[in-house]
Amino acid sequence: MCGIVAYLGKKPAQPILIEGLKRLEYRGYDSAGVGLMNNGVIKITKSSGRISVLEELLEPINQAEVLGIGHTRWATHGEPNTINAHPHLDYTGKIAVVHNGIIENYSTLKTWLISEGCKFSSQTDTEVISNLIGYLYAGHNEKGTPTTGQNRFEWAVQRALNELVGTYGLAIVCADFPDMLIGAKKGSPLILGLGENEYIIASDASAIVEHTTQAIYMADNEMVICTSKGFHTKTIDNVEIRKDLKQIEFSLDAIELNGFQHYMLKEICEQPKALNMCLGGRLDHRDGRIVLGGLDKYWREITRAKRIIINACGTAWHAGLVGEFLLENLARINTETEYASEFRYRNPIIDDGTVVIAVSQSGETADTLAAVEQAKERGAIVLGIVNVVGSTIARTTDAGVYLRVGPEIGVASTKAFTAQVAVLAMLAIELGRRKHLGHDVAKFYIDELAKIPAKIEKVLTQSEQIKEIAAATCERENWLFLGRGFNYPVALEGALKLKEISYIHAEGLPAAEMKHGPIALINKGMPAVFIATKCSQYEKIIGNIEEVRARGGRTIVVATEGDENIGKYADFLITVPPAPEELQPLLTVVPLQILAYHAAVLRGHDVDKPRNLAKSVTVE
Ligand code: GLU
Repeated sequence: MCGIVAYLGKKPAQPILIEGLKRLEYRGYDSAGVGLMNNGVIKITKSSGRISVLEELLEPINQAEVLGIGHTRWATHGEPNTINAHPHLDYTGKIAVVHNGIIENYSTLKTWLISEGCKFSSQTDTEVISNLIGYLYAGHNEKGTPTTGQNRFEWAVQRALNELVGTYGLAIVCADFPDMLIGAKKGSPLILGLGENEYIIASDASAIVEHTTQAIYMADNEMVICTSKGFHTKTIDNVEIRKDLKQIEFSLDAIELNGFQHYMLKEICEQPKALNMCLGGRLDHRDGRIVLGGLDKYWREITRAKRIIINACGTAWHAGLVGEFLLENLARINTETEYASEFRYRNPIIDDGTVVIAVSQSGETADTLAAVEQAKERGAIVLGIVNVVGSTIARTTDAGVYLRVGPEIGVASTKAFTAQVAVLAMLAIELGRRKHLGHDVAKFYIDELAKIPAKIEKVLTQSEQIKEIAAATCERENWLFLGRGFNYPVALEGALKLKEISYIHAEGLPAAEMKHGPIALINKGMPAVFIATKCSQYEKIIGNIEEVRARGGRTIVVATEGDENIGKYADFLITVPPAPEELQPLLTVVPLQILAYHAAVLRGHDVDKPRNLAKSVTVE
């Protein structure tokens, strides 16, 4: 969940680490720190709070400090204070570690290391890593010794990694080797950027791309050892391996704010362009078919699937639920959407003809990844719908479709949601076409899908008006979001967006469910957001709006442009262009994203760094 960055090269490491940490800050931001190699001593500076706080504590840049490690934390073990911030030094002061992940057997290791005389100063699980490496490095040889010629630091790291249960992305330095940087990965992402005479190890490419676009994506149970003379990669079982060099595909521009106040707003506004990139080259209007090259080898199996299970978490789960409705409706395949965190522990039934689809923006979501592994073990074909190219889920699944929307930095997901829905819509249309939808019907949906980006553009023009709605309502602490059919998952997503960034309590519901309990919550002035577009359940949802109004609730209604009737039911009205019911979520979610954004800004919150959250949830 956190971000790690490390540098070894010819330039001063400090500014490169700080710049990298700022790029990674969206991954975690409760505390931060750097460790710089200075004349055989590791100089640690760390603090609770944001990178900007850390910056104030740093000494002036020292040209001679060309090796360093940095961390921005999202605490799992121990409160987010300065002592628990990374890097963590071992008890001898020689080894420093930054870590992303969780060491599950840390308690056992800690008890044992304490009994061996190691001193601990933090409450983190990470400190067992530095202390275990330090203990082995210091010559406590119960765990074996390096073979002749083997570097002792490298050996100690490799040996220690074999004792760790859990997940890690690590960057490690040793005071006795001012020219050596070691990285290791298991379960958390880690990329090695290869520049000219320099190496950057980071949790994701955003911290690397400014320096080089050449990278190696580390796999689980691998480590990399960099020195000024070169680097080598091996497994943690000490087997040397060769890794392919990959090109980082996005530009620096894609991760800049470009004049926007927040990444979230930038990404909301980018949706027309992002969806065009996602749909580009995939819609064959003439033949009425969808082209998803990544699935080519598996169309036969997917088309024959008796059951599809979509695994996801958070916003991606909501996209998955829209996908479920699309797949059932258009492809007539029995589909279930599962919380990956539940699926993985539930002894799921996967029989012949079950296809599993994992949906994750980052491709690193720990729960979704575990669900993928579980499904693979049980013999399912597993497909990934992922944004980050080369991410773990992208590599672990049998086949998949990339979102192609560029990096998403805002912690509250927006453009990834619409792209996930678009990909699931393409999948449903193509499966439907292969099964039973006639050419004309498939072509109809394809043509309609192509029109969505321009329609989103129209929705975006209402931002100021939506801001006024937010201003009139955002002081209320309890909201309801209600939708039916395809817009029910949008109600869930609208509520989640509001919760995440404005800290308002909001509940999303199928509108008809309200009367079975939640209607008791409605009191005078309570905001209730209805998605009441023209669809098969239009009349029904009008009835639900009436129920809320009768009890004094204030209605914010998302309706179809040109609907003359709806105004009288709405205290506040937002419109979206008409679209087929199945594709409406791609439009109706946008005003809810904007509403949440403005509410959060008006309440004075840091939209891109909501409290307690982090972008890619790489811990369980
Ligand atoms: N488990 C470590 C800690 O709590 C690392 C958490 C992270 O990935 O940020 O310090």
